[in-house]
Amino acid sequence: MDKELPTLDTRSLPSRIERLRELAYNLWWSWHEESQALYSLLDPLLWEETGHNPVALLRRIEPGKLDAAVADVAYLANYDKVFRSFDFYMSESDTWFAMTYPDIKTHTVAYFSTEFGLHESLPLYAGGLGVLSGDHTKEASDLGIPFIGVGLLYHMGYFTQKINDEGWQEDVYSELDPEDRPVKPVLLQDGRPACVSLDLGSLQVTCTLWKVQVGRVPIYLLDTALDSSLPDLTSDIPRLYGGSHLTRLLQEILLGIGGVKALRLLDIDPQVWHMNEGHSSFLTLELIHEHVAKGVPVEQATELVKDSTVFTTHTPVPAGLDMFDLDLLAPYFQPLWEGIGITSEQMIDFGRQDIGWGEKFSMPRLALQLSGLRNGVSKLHGQVSRDLFQSVWPERKIDEVPIFHITNGVHAQTWLAPQIMSLFDQYVGRDWVYYMDDPAIWDAIDAIPDQVLWDTRQEIKIDLLRFLRHQARIRWASGETTPLHIAWSGTLFTHNVLTIGFARRFATYKRATLLFHDFQRLQRIVGSPERPVQFVFAGKAHPQDHGGKTLIQELCQRALDPRLGGHIAFLEDYDMNVARYLVRGVDVWLNNPRRPREASGTSGQKAALNGIPNLSVLDGWWAEGYNGRNGWAIGDGHEFWAEHEEDRADAEAFYHVLETEVIPLYYQRNDAGLPQAWLMRVREAIKSAMPYFSTRRMVKEYTERMYVPSIRHRGQREMAIT
Ligand SMILES: *Cc1c(COP(=O)(O)O)cnc(C)c1O
Repeated sequence: MDKELPTLDTRSLPSRIERLRELAYNLWWSWHEESQALYSLLDPLLWEETGHNPVALLRRIEPGKLDAAVADVAYLANYDKVFRSFDFYMSESDTWFAMTYPDIKTHTVAYFSTEFGLHESLPLYAGGLGVLSGDHTKEASDLGIPFIGVGLLYHMGYFTQKINDEGWQEDVYSELDPEDRPVKPVLLQDGRPACVSLDLGSLQVTCTLWKVQVGRVPIYLLDTALDSSLPDLTSDIPRLYGGSHLTRLLQEILLGIGGVKALRLLDIDPQVWHMNEGHSSFLTLELIHEHVAKGVPVEQATELVKDSTVFTTHTPVPAGLDMFDLDLLAPYFQPLWEGIGITSEQMIDFGRQDIGWGEKFSMPRLALQLSGLRNGVSKLHGQVSRDLFQSVWPERKIDEVPIFHITNGVHAQTWLAPQIMSLFDQYVGRDWVYYMDDPAIWDAIDAIPDQVLWDTRQEIKIDLLRFLRHQARIRWASGETTPLHIAWSGTLFTHNVLTIGFARRFATYKRATLLFHDFQRLQRIVGSPERPVQFVFAGKAHPQDHGGKTLIQELCQRALDPRLGGHIAFLEDYDMNVARYLVRGVDVWLNNPRRPREASGTSGQKAALNGIPNLSVLDGWWAEGYNGRNGWAIGDGHEFWAEHEEDRADAEAFYHVLETEVIPLYYQRNDAGLPQAWLMRVREAIKSAMPYFSTRRMVKEYTERMYVPSIRHRGQREMAIT
């Protein structure tokens, strides 16, 4: 980035629109479309070029364009309107939390996560886990939960995906300049930068802190570009999932232990510590250490930590569990175990896991043993987790393992198309935003006329197709690409063809290429002259996942097969921007993982909110979300011993439901030329998803079942001890 540019702090803005600076640093704008227009309208091309980034845009914009805005009455009217609602939001005192729990509204929940997916302009996420943390944080702000996030500021973020002309994924890392992002350095009272130092025995590190403001909620980020006594050892820490096991260990130490120290430095004393996945669970050891340092005996300290700590697991398969070799840990924990007054073996006991051919230190195990309340992320995943982690409670039956479930949801205003939100405004009432988890209000969806609903869905699909062509055109104009590339980019797509979307990480168990199982059958389906079908795919493979990259290549190459008629597309560089187009714009959302490996899956929920029926294996959230009317099931949910059996059966079920139900329903039109029966599915998708599969229901559930009980219970125990 250009070092000559002024920082946004020093750049002068016309006083009439001076508050654009303040709003650029509050991601509230990311879920209020009309506020994004304040930036995009200033300079639409620059808005594109900066990747929808208000901070970067304001640093670069020509002064003349700012002056033009000041002279534009319509712009100013929108500006004033946006700031009225922003000020109202920020000063609201009767939030859901304040009204429901007036006695504990000054308590604090600290939420730790390695990733936060808030917006594409702040690339601190790789996929589902991060987007969930971002959605959770936005909802915590909307509900007025006294909440703060803790994470890491990666300077290299996650990679950008480029597909070369062979269809092979290239991973491009670029440096993130914090001056260009909505993050501010955290300063102490005396104006010095806040610094956290960790004594890790053989390694000393010091890092600064950054803050991201998300509506009413701050997220504190530890800087991964740190001062280190062993720079070679720590050089990969700025990369998200880009390094060795050791790098990962150091990142998790920084998050867990460094995160606790950061909050202390800022004088923050959370009553609840929420570990979103086991990556942050070293925080429990640091908390024990704190109690011991105040003279509490270890056993009692451990109990106190359990009372204030809650844990969410996301991993349904043993191979996905986050574990470290014992000798990898040893060099960095001596000060901690000595500080607690235990031996290294006793410390390792907290996470010790027998893996059959030796022992490892398991982060989820540490989190399970040292948390008071624990959950999986869908009903089915709750069961799977009780089974997976039964060995932590060997004396209990599987059904009695103390892990319950809170099904994931998505932040509605982040993922809903503006066109769908205006239908809600009109037919459900403008206050749907406040009552969205009340199923009764959604009956009003039936009042939307077929024609209006269909036109809206088509309009959003056309937005998606325009985006596909736009991306292809940028690629083409860059001169770095060949015609082949243009052919698999969806440029041959048509808006009146049934369009099926599939986007997620390219892990092999997600089986992105299942549709090619019987090529001729697929060819008949997509190439039907009367009732064709087109498929659009997107997703990144993990940098070290050769199998996943091979799947992407297979897809791109298949997409070029003339027999498939240009009906298959692969959209490059799946991120939150690409995701928004896809989950809003397609007709059907497809998901066909090997069951039960999908803990929840949230992209299908984003699609459902927008009136897109799901076509999915009964795994993750769909095992409870499918009601027979809001989409279709692939298979009947039974499990297979052999993977090839499962693939064969699921492919057969997929073709069958597509041929006999999805396609006929989509192309069946009434006298008015409308697919009336299809639109019933569209309505049902919205009606079943809005009240239940949004973060509104989810974060209320976290509050009621985890945060509040742990605040109240801890209060009681502390009274008993003192
Ligand atoms: C929602 C989302 C995901 C997670 O989707 P899954 O269905 O859980 O795989 C991943 N990446 C991005 C960019 C998303 O928006």
